[in-house]
Amino acid sequence: MKFNTKTIHGGQAPDPAYGSVMPPIYQTSTYAQSSPGKHKGFEYSRTHNPTRHALEEALASIENGAHGITFGSGLAAIDAVIKLLNPGDEVIASNDLYGGSYRLFTKIYERFGVKFHFVSMRDASSIEQYVNSNTKLIWIETPTNPMLNIIDIKVMVSIAKKHSILLAVDNTFATPYLQQPLDMGADIVMHSATKYLGGHSDVVMGALVVKDKALADQLYFIQNASGAVAGPQDCFLVLRGIKTLHVRVQRHCENALIIANYLASHPKVGRVYYPGLTNHPNHKIAQQQMSDFGGMMSFTTSAGTLESAVEVVERLKFFTLAESLGGVESLSGHPASMTHASIPREEREKSGVTDSLIRLSVGIEDVEDLLADLKQALG
Ligand SMILES: *Cc1c(COP(=O)(O)O)cnc(C)c1O
Repeated sequence: MKFNTKTIHGGQAPDPAYGSVMPPIYQTSTYAQSSPGKHKGFEYSRTHNPTRHALEEALASIENGAHGITFGSGLAAIDAVIKLLNPGDEVIASNDLYGGSYRLFTKIYERFGVKFHFVSMRDASSIEQYVNSNTKLIWIETPTNPMLNIIDIKVMVSIAKKHSILLAVDNTFATPYLQQPLDMGADIVMHSATKYLGGHSDVVMGALVVKDKALADQLYFIQNASGAVAGPQDCFLVLRGIKTLHVRVQRHCENALIIANYLASHPKVGRVYYPGLTNHPNHKIAQQQMSDFGGMMSFTTSAGTLESAVEVVERLKFFTLAESLGGVESLSGHPASMTHASIPREEREKSGVTDSLIRLSVGIEDVEDLLADLKQALG
């Protein structure tokens, strides 16, 4: 099955009860047993739920994995991965991570004795100096949020394999339509399904996809034992979102490239960070490991001040100023005061998250309207 067919049919058979084409929302906490321990495979909805199961099968299919595991949010999915570790274990993570991932690692898991190294991964092979016998996990995001850096997944895979370290890739920005890390040798793919997979800004959810059965069993154990599961209604919404993932992301990419080129030539714009621009430092790697460049970009104002950026985002009309990304509607954000406010100024400026940086999630509206909106806001 090819990708566009998988989003619609992958792991998704009509429901056995009445043949309903969409999986029903099994809004139930428990399931009748005919005799103690005798049931139809479902006992309690923290452990198993048919709607969730349908989504997990679909996720495994579109990421070319074998097992999907869903959670109440993207952060809960990341949390489950870190729970694979023990005190004393070390993690190498990229230094321009999603702010919430950074907060989870430093404010929660460092207290439990897990050590994190936050390093620049633009030159992927340079991370090897941080590897030692305690290193158990490499955590990467590519493209990164919000700087749109591209990390060379193949190089990360070779380092991880050489030292028997797990490699997890946060594939939220790329989606499996553009990039399939498991096929490249990563062990775990993670999603904030809140973003492109859901795609309609109406649900918060997280997901992991793996190939290895033993690793999946550990993660299912954590899913059930810690209990941060996704509810059936939310699972239904994400399943529904996945069915149009390919057409949505294709349009996101088309619009984003036009907008990135427009911004790059605008006098009121400083730098544009978009992997589809040929002057992006990792454009070549993006071309190799992604089939297109996605709908996310960031740019600075040429004035470079906080005030100039705030003025632009306040004036934008179609780019609603809001947290989050990946929905059909365009959004703007100011990372330094919004998504990345939890990262100390010094840390975030090192990775490029300056006061005048604006992040755009380019939606699938008519691009002429989006260009006109940017023109008036920068005006
Ligand atoms: C939003 C996001 C997360 C966190 O996901 P939630 O669903 O908000 O918990 C993690 N990584 C990236 C790249 C994100 O954009």
